[in-house]
Amino acid sequence: MKVLLDQQQLEAGVERMARDIESLYGGKPLTIIGIMTGSVVLLADLIRKLEMPLRVGVIQTSSYRGTSRGSLTINSELMLDITDRDVLLIDDIFDTGHTLKEVIQLMNSLGPSSLRSAVLLKKSGRQEVQLIPDFVAFDIPDEFVVGYGLDFNDEYRNLPYLACLEPSDLVTSPTTV
Ligand code: 5GP
Ligand code: MG
Repeated sequence: MKVLLDQQQLEAGVERMARDIESLYGGKPLTIIGIMTGSVVLLADLIRKLEMPLRVGVIQTSSYRGTSRGSLTINSELMLDITDRDVLLIDDIFDTGHTLKEVIQLMNSLGPSSLRSAVLLKKSGRQEVQLIPDFVAFDIPDEFVVGYGLDFNDEYRNLPYLACLEPSDLVTSPTTV
C-alpha cells in the first residue's frame, strides 16, 4: 500500500474546508447529512472543527462491490427533517458523481432552503455528471484509495491515512468473502 495523504495533510485539508464552510454560511444554522459509511471519519473530524450551530444526520448509500460499481441503494431512515433548512451533504469521494447526483435529487424533493455538498476527495478525470461539489478538500489521481473512512470490501476504514491499494492488495482474503 502506498500512502497518498498522511494524517497531517488530511487534518490540514479538513481544517481548510471547515473554514470555507463557516465563511459561506456566516453563522446561520446548518443541517449536515453524512453519506455513510465512507464519510464517517470525515464527518466526525469536520463537525468538531465547525464553530456554528448545526444538526447532524446520516443516510446510507452503497454502490460498490469490491472495486467495481453496482447499482445504488439509498437508506434515509436516519436522516433529519431537511424541509426549509440549509443542508450540506458530506461524502468521502466524488468519483463518477452518480452517487451524489442521485442523493441530491432525493434531497431536493424534500424542499431544503439550500442544498450544497462537500467531499474529502475528487478523483480527476472520472466525472460522468454535470454537477461539481461545492467544497472539495483534495483532488487526487484516478487510483482506488482506502483509509480515513474509505474501504475495500469493508476493510481499511480505520487507517488514519489515505492509501492507494496496489494489485497485490486487491486479492480478497478468504475471511471476507
Ligand atoms: P461515484 O458514484 O461518485 O462514482 O462513487 C462514489 C462512491 O463510490 C463513494 O462514496 C465511495 O463509497 C465509492 N468510491 C469511489 N471511488 C472510490 C475509491 O477510490 N475508494 C473507495 N474505497 N471507494 C470509492
Ligand atoms: Mg460512499
